[in-house]
Formats: sequence, structure tokens, C-alpha cells
Amino acid sequence: MPASSPWPARLALAFLLLVLSGASVLLWRQIEAVQQQRVDERIGYQARSLARQLESTLHLEVASLERIARLWNSLGRLPHASWGEEVERVLQGFPAYQSIQWVGDDLRMRWLLPVAGNEAALNFRLYPEHPNYPLAMEARESGEQRFSNSFDLVQGGRGFVLYTPLYREHDGTKVFDGFLQGVFRVEPLMLQLLTQIDREAFNLELLENSHSLFRHGAADTDMRHSLQLGLSLLNNQDFSLRLSPTEQLLDQLESPLPGVVLGASLAISLLLVAALALALENSRRAHALQLANRRFKLEAERREETEQRLRENRERLQLVLDLTDSSHDGLFIFDSGTRELLHMNQATYATLGYRPEQFAELLRDDPEKLLPGFHRWLEQARQAQRDNLSRIFQRELIRRDGSRQPAEINTQLVQLHDREYLIAVSRDNSERLQLEAQLQRLSQLDGLTGLYNRRYFDQQLLAEWRRLRRLDAPLALLMLDIDHFKAYNDALGHLAGDDALRRVSAALRDSLQREGDTACRYGGEEFAIILANTNQEGAEQVAARVHAAIASLDIHHPASPFGQLTLSIGITVVDPVSDEQPGELLAQGDQALYRAKHEGRNRTCLWQPPALDLHQGP
Ligand code: GH3
Ligand code: MG
Ligand code: MG
Repeated sequence: MPASSPWPARLALAFLLLVLSGASVLLWRQIEAVQQQRVDERIGYQARSLARQLESTLHLEVASLERIARLWNSLGRLPHASWGEEVERVLQGFPAYQSIQWVGDDLRMRWLLPVAGNEAALNFRLYPEHPNYPLAMEARESGEQRFSNSFDLVQGGRGFVLYTPLYREHDGTKVFDGFLQGVFRVEPLMLQLLTQIDREAFNLELLENSHSLFRHGAADTDMRHSLQLGLSLLNNQDFSLRLSPTEQLLDQLESPLPGVVLGASLAISLLLVAALALALENSRRAHALQLANRRFKLEAERREETEQRLRENRERLQLVLDLTDSSHDGLFIFDSGTRELLHMNQATYATLGYRPEQFAELLRDDPEKLLPGFHRWLEQARQAQRDNLSRIFQRELIRRDGSRQPAEINTQLVQLHDREYLIAVSRDNSERLQLEAQLQRLSQLDGLTGLYNRRYFDQQLLAEWRRLRRLDAPLALLMLDIDHFKAYNDALGHLAGDDALRRVSAALRDSLQREGDTACRYGGEEFAIILANTNQEGAEQVAARVHAAIASLDIHHPASPFGQLTLSIGITVVDPVSDEQPGELLAQGDQALYRAKHEGRNRTCLWQPPALDLHQGP
């Protein structure tokens, strides 16, 4: 049953209630009818039995009087005394008689018993005016007994008469000899009859042609149950008895059963319908509950799933966090506006010697103390992201102890919920930087002697030349070449030559005292020295020091006229105001060296413009 539309079910229940109520009323009517029938049956039975009683009583008296008439007719007129005895017997048998009389053939009263109370009738004569006269004549003619209607008795009151015609033999023929009259007064007769019934239970009325002759009990009784029965009194059909139950009897007979049944069945119907309605409602609720349960279960399953996913995500996140913690690279994410940290891994703060809260506080409150140039860096990161350029920055982070740690920081800016977050991955690349620097240095050095090589020399010369021009300072260049070195090799072997080259190189390095002065191996046994911010005088001093240092090495040279290893030096000094280029400088140095060789070696020559070319000894 769908919970949403209880109306059809409610209508069905209302219909059921209607049907059950109808059935209850029908049942009630049925029981009422049965009860009515019972009352009617009881009354009918009583009425019939009373009517038969009355009829049989009167018929008994008819028979009694007929018996006397038979005696009269067969024996002839009875003597007065015999008649009296017979009549007394009849009177004793039935006390309702008013009197029994003999009226002669002249219709005059002859004999009468009892006399007491009937004195007024002693002189009675049945005149033709008497209401019973025609009936009496009918009895006389027919020879049959006749029962009169009621009439006013001469003794007073209402009564009726049973006419029994009498005859006697006279000359072989039957001669009318008057009437034997049984006179009944209505009331005693009826009272006699009433002894037969329960007077408390019934109302009784004797009717003669619908006129009430006698009544016992209330007149306005319930006409529903009253029953009128016609009486058959010989010829007379004018009498009837009406019997009706008293209230008392009705109360006795009418059980409360129909009412109880009606009430009970209505109540049962109501209860049944109410129970059904309840069951219906319960079922509806159960259904709703079931639906709710199903929804709840689904919801619970969904939640369980979500929680499971959440757990997995959390675990994954934790794993990621653990992994990021085990990483040597720092990973930190912060709000670029407030610089509040969203996340950082262990490497971020631990490698710098901070505790997590210290790092977070420093980043938030004074980022420049953590990462010098922080704000500029942030701007550069934004710009790089806008321009789609590399977002890897080489910066320095300040350790807790104040020292600096080179860091390569990879940045990514993310816009999320109206906020800008910066994801930074920092790597301590000091080792790599050192390595690179070392490689760089190695690439600048000469393998045999450890001096700078020719490539570095070229770069350095150019750089210094530019720098010193900016500073408005002079630059001196010394070009050096070992004398008779081919002969040295030839004489002592190549290895000895190499060794000599190393020793000369060390001596050159030691001769340079100022920071920024650079000695390099320019070729096989040729060297060059750059002296920054040095004038001619300074350069000559350095050249002299070099000669002295080489001399003090005292490297024996069997093929040299000097007996030991010597070298020749060409000096050129460039003036800051001059327009000369580094290439020209080299050429000048070479020219000066060339002159020193030509002038006998183991000496220094200063480059001079051709006109002013001067010679200078060691
Ligand atoms: P000069 O006095 O005119 O300079 O005479 P020189 O013999 O030094 O001149 P030259 O330039 O003809 O000879 C240079 C020699 O230096 C040639 C070579 O045998 C030697 N030499 C160059 N490079 C090396 C090196 O790396 N090791 C050794 N052992 N000898 C070298
Ligand atoms: Mg040479
Ligand atoms: Mg040489």
C-alpha cells in the first residue's frame, strides 16, 4: 500500500463501517421482530385461551340449561320444586349467573332463582318492544338456543340472556312452553373469566360490535401488541375479546437483548473498523518507517563509503606527508598574502636548524630574515608564472645560527578560494654549487702547472680590462717565456721539463702578492700575468721579483749560457684613458717579450710606442 495515498483505504473503511452498522441494525430489527413475535404469540395464546375459556364456560351453561330443557320437553313441565333443584345445581356450578328464570308461553315471568337481588324482575314480561324479542322469537321458531346481545337489566346494569325454548306434549304435538332464561350480568361473568388469567399481565376488554362492555386494566395500552378475537357464542358473533399486555408484562418480555445486541454490534463494528484503521495506519507507518530505514541504510552506506574514501585519502595524505618528511628537499606551502603556513615538511625547517613553530613565525613576521629578498623573490615568482618562465630560483636561506644556506627554490603559485598560495620546493644545493664551482675552477686551470689556463686568462683579461676602465685604473700585463727551454728538454728529458714548468709556475704564483693578480700558463713554456690597478713601476717590481724567484729556484740548465733556468718578460701597461683593446695589449706584451729575447734573454722589456722604445735590463 502506498503511504502517500491513504484515501482509498479510508473510504473502504468508512464503507465497511456503514455496512457493519447496517448489518447491526438489521440484526437488531431481526431480534426485535423475534421478540415482538414472542410477545404476540404469548398474547395470542392467552387471548385464544381466554376466548375459548369464555366460549366453553358459556357452552357449559348452554349445555346445563339445555339439559334442563330436555328434561322439560321429555317429562313435560317440571314441577316447581324439581325445577328449583335443577336450577340450584346449575347456579352453584356457575356463580356468574344473575338468575335463571322460566318465562311462560305468554312471555311472563313465572319462576326465578335466586329471588334475592332479582326482585325487580319478578313481574317481568317480554314485550315485543324488548330488544331481545326478535331473538327470543327466533329461538322459539327454531327450537334452538339463542344468546342475546347486551341490554339493560331490569335489576340494573348490563347483561345478556341465553334463551332456551321449552316445549311440552299436548295432544301429540309439541307446544311452546316459554323460555328457560339464563341471565348473566357482564361484570361478574368477566370477573369470573379474569380468574383464569394473570390480571397483572394483561388488559382485557369485552367488545360488542366494537363497543366496550367491560374493561380490565388501562385503556391506552400499547396497541402494537393488542389482539382482538371474535367470540362464537351460539348464534351470536357480535362479541369479541381484546387482550393486550400490560407494561409490566412487556417489561418482562421485552429483554434488553436487541438493544444490547445493537449496541454491542455497533461497538464491535466500530472497534473492528478502528482496529482496521489502526492496522492500516500502522502498516502505513511501518511502510514509511521501512522507507526511512532504507533511506537511512543507504545514507549510512554512502557515509561509510565516504568515510572509507576519506580514511584512504587521509592515509594516502599521511603517506605523502611521511614521504615528504623523508625527503631531503623542503616542501612548504603558505598563503602569500598573510604568509601563514599551510604545510611544511620536516626538511624545510630541520635542515636550517629551526623548530617548526620558529620557522612558521619567522616566515609570517619577518620573512626577510629567513629568505633575504623575500618580497622581491615573491614578485619574481609571480612574474615568472605570468610570463611562463622558469620558476626555479637560486636563493639563500638563513640558518638559525645565522649562516647562509644556498637553496634552489622551485615555486608554484595557486589561486584557491580568493587566496593565493605559494608552493615552494627548496633544495640545499650548496654541494652542487661547490661541485660546479670546482668544475668551473678546474676548467679554468692548467692541468700540469695548476695555474689558470689560456681560456681563463682571455676571459679574465677582458673582464679586468673593462672593470679597470670603469674604475679609471691602470692595468699591467706581463708576458713571460722560459729561455732555451727546447734545449733544456733536449738535454734533460721531457719529464724534467715538465717538472721545471711546475716549479716555475709555483714561483710565479708566489711572486703575486695582491688579490686579483692572476698568473696563467699561456702556452707550452709561456706564461702571462695580469696585474690589476698596477702602473708601470708596479709591473716592473713584479717582474723583478719573478726574475729573483726563478733565480732562487736555481734550476740547473746545462744548455743555457746562464747555467740555470731563466725567463724573459715583456711588460705592457694600459692607461685608463687610452683606447687600446685587450688584443692590442697582448700584441704589445708579445712585442716587449720578443725584444727581451733579442736583447739577450733573462731580462724584462717594457713595451714602448715605437718612437719611444726603451731598453731595460733585469
Ligand atoms: P727561446 O729562448 O728563444 O725561447 O728558446 P726556446 O727553446 O725556449 O724556444 P722554442 O719556442 O723554440 O722552444 C720551446 C720549447 O719548449 C719547445 C718544447 O720542447 C718545449 N716545451 C713546450 N711545452 C712543453 C712542455 O709542456 N713540457 C716540456 N717538457 N717541454 C715543453
Ligand atoms: Mg716559447
Ligand atoms: Mg722559450
